[in-house]
Amino acid sequence: MSCPKVSLAPSCEIDLDEPGKQHGYIRIQFSADRSAYGWLPVPIMSIKNGDGPVAVIIGANHGDEYEGVSITSGLYQELEIGDVKGQIIFLPAANAPAFYAGRRTSPLDWTGEGNLNRMFPGNQYGPPTEMIAWYITTEIVPRGDVFFDLHSAGKSIDHHPSVKIRLMGDEDKDALQMKFLELFGAPIGIVGNRVHETTLSGEILPLDKIYLSTELGGAGKIRPWIRDFGYNGMKRCLREMGVFVGDEKLPEPEHKVSLKAMQTGENYIFARTSGMFEPRVNLGDEVQDGQFAGYIWNTKELWQKPTELFFDRGGIVFCKRNPALCEVGDTLFFTLNDYHS
Ligand SMILES: [Zn+2]
Repeated sequence: MSCPKVSLAPSCEIDLDEPGKQHGYIRIQFSADRSAYGWLPVPIMSIKNGDGPVAVIIGANHGDEYEGVSITSGLYQELEIGDVKGQIIFLPAANAPAFYAGRRTSPLDWTGEGNLNRMFPGNQYGPPTEMIAWYITTEIVPRGDVFFDLHSAGKSIDHHPSVKIRLMGDEDKDALQMKFLELFGAPIGIVGNRVHETTLSGEILPLDKIYLSTELGGAGKIRPWIRDFGYNGMKRCLREMGVFVGDEKLPEPEHKVSLKAMQTGENYIFARTSGMFEPRVNLGDEVQDGQFAGYIWNTKELWQKPTELFFDRGGIVFCKRNPALCEVGDTLFFTLNDYHS
């Protein structure tokens, strides 16, 4: 007599092959002290209508990046079946346990720092964050043609808003990606050609699928002007790829995009001492090589002069630490320089 094994791998309440408008949860099995036979809910929605391209929109890959949650959920609520040709899959809070906890990382993994975007391709029987990564890798990634991963840096960082592409060496796909940069309506468009292992982009781009990511502000909050151009920008991009076919007149892109290259190590200022960070430049400022950037105060010996910070490489100030207190190794700033094709 044999006893068949029953899988405890993640499962989904909706059938992504079914046409229509559906919502439910990806169930992440989690036997916890609070709930012995429970599962963790990861929201998922789909609008599918006939044959056509498949777009995947992802929010809260990091749990404290809220703009993408609002944009992804808002689009699902607004769009009707007749607005779609093909399919849009919505994952508004990909690392849902982190989102529910108001944290970048999930507190439910062994380390208490489950960073979804460092756990791909994941593990179906790992801790919760690895299980989510596994489900996305095996069930969502194969379905999509274009992926919009709506990041925004989270509580510890603030960004001048941007959208980023990675060139693929395919003329048509790269032309479409450049068009997306223009249509999204962000002030900054970043053009790069590298991906990192263990990230979602590292899973998708080697499959020759298009992957865009954003940094829609951050600092653990939602700013209306950023959320609004991001929302309109998503619709413009979905229309360009042919999956949004509603006849609504869309506004022109809210900003003329300025193209920048992906940053290098020289663009960063890291904290070399712990203390209280006082920036003296603002996001979006143009700064010169060697320009003064701010201070780090010694929080105990406040009679001492603070440590002065300088930019090695100037450019536009794109990234700034959000909280004042910092420790050695924290990113305080980085700049971006113009992109030259
Ligand atoms: Zn992120």
